[in-house]
Amino acid sequence: MSNSTAPFVVIGTGLAGYNLVKELRKLAPEQEIIMITADDGRNYSKPMLSTGFGKNKSADELAMGSAADMAAQLNIVIRTHTSVTKIDTANHKVFVGEEPISYSKLVLAWGAEAIRPRMEGDGADRVFSINDLEDYASFRAVVDGKKRVLVMGAGLIGCEFANDMVNGGFEVEVVAPCEHILPTLLPTEAAHAVQEGLEGLGVKFHLGPLVTRINRDGDGVVAQLSNGTNVAADAVVSAIGLRPRLDLAVKAGIQVNHGIVADRLLQTSEPDVYTLGDCAEVEGRVLLYVLPLMASARALAKTLTGTPTEVSYGVMPVTVKTPVVPVVVSPAAPDSAGRWIIEREGADVQAEFRNEAGDLLGYALTGAKVMNKVALNKELPAIMP
Ligand SMILES: Cc1cc2nc3c(=O)[nH]c(=O)nc-3n(C[C@H](O)[C@H](O)[C@H](O)COP(=O)(O)OP(=O)(O)OC[C@H]3O[C@@H](n4cnc5c(N)ncnc54)[C@H](O)[C@@H]3O)c2cc1C
Repeated sequence: MSNSTAPFVVIGTGLAGYNLVKELRKLAPEQEIIMITADDGRNYSKPMLSTGFGKNKSADELAMGSAADMAAQLNIVIRTHTSVTKIDTANHKVFVGEEPISYSKLVLAWGAEAIRPRMEGDGADRVFSINDLEDYASFRAVVDGKKRVLVMGAGLIGCEFANDMVNGGFEVEVVAPCEHILPTLLPTEAAHAVQEGLEGLGVKFHLGPLVTRINRDGDGVVAQLSNGTNVAADAVVSAIGLRPRLDLAVKAGIQVNHGIVADRLLQTSEPDVYTLGDCAEVEGRVLLYVLPLMASARALAKTLTGTPTEVSYGVMPVTVKTPVVPVVVSPAAPDSAGRWIIEREGADVQAEFRNEAGDLLGYALTGAKVMNKVALNKELPAIMP
């Protein structure tokens, strides 16, 4: 039963939730809005979490506003440290424990969760994921005064943390089961250029093996790798991947696939329930980046205020924050037919992915070549026109 006088309820105060509400406020100054978040509701830019050690910024310094500041600025109610535990779409209610909260429109902006590594040993409690500002604060407290960090994973987040933590004065070793770093983003030559840059800063890579066991060793840990190597560290950062949060949606009967399934209006399978950001799969695409969620926030604000508006994704290159060797990449759509054409001069790589007709479908640029992104962007097809 829909209840059109009930508030809009937005679950999540990440960039998706806050950007949506900012857009909503431009169009509907009076609309009653409740935001609910499991964390402290501070407004911060999550991409900055992997630049904080190099800049020596505490969690407080990365925060741009408290939940109270945001509530006042946006004229909304924000419930912090509050987890939604159930959704009843038939009756248009979400539950926090036993407490029901009615909605007229519900927006799921609850993000993605870090995949936890499975391994043996008694040191698992020294393995940390850094997926929000509170995680970052706890990790900084753990490594305060320490010097050796082991990073699990050599994807975007693992490589960014490796570069950042070495800039912050740590000795960093990276373990990942892939043949080259940034395996889903870069062709081999470009990955080598970035790896060599990181090695030049002192980062040590173990590519190929998995971490199989982590044992405590005094204040720190020793990690056993599947190739027999042992790596000692004060703490471990796990950056082996993120996956959209789905559990609550599944229990509520909302259709999911890799993410919460949404059409281009960002509507889920259930009436009056919408989704955007890291938890959403929009017409088959799960994109764990800021630009798609910004486009989604703009479109969804219009839809929720009475002007149904489909989201489009233009060209959305991804910058990998490895300042030692800058990287910009625009991956081709999965399963596109084509081949890489690659030029490399030291750390500077220009890799273009073209089809048989010669059309540019994707690219990867490193070092000084990143400045060619503007020209290449003009040639690329939109991700979802
Ligand atoms: C280290 C790092 C670096 C990154 N760098 C870049 C970059 O350079 N460029 C880029 O484009 N992208 C980058 N990303 C990705 C980008 O940060 C994310 O795509 C974006 O922040 C996702 O925002 P979100 O609002 O969807 O999710 P989140 O920020 O994860 O927010 C989820 C919100 O939902 C809340 N929540 C979850 N479950 C519940 C529940 N049951 N009840 C109530 N609340 C709940 C959480 O408390 C939180 O408030 C990076 C990510 C990381 C981790």
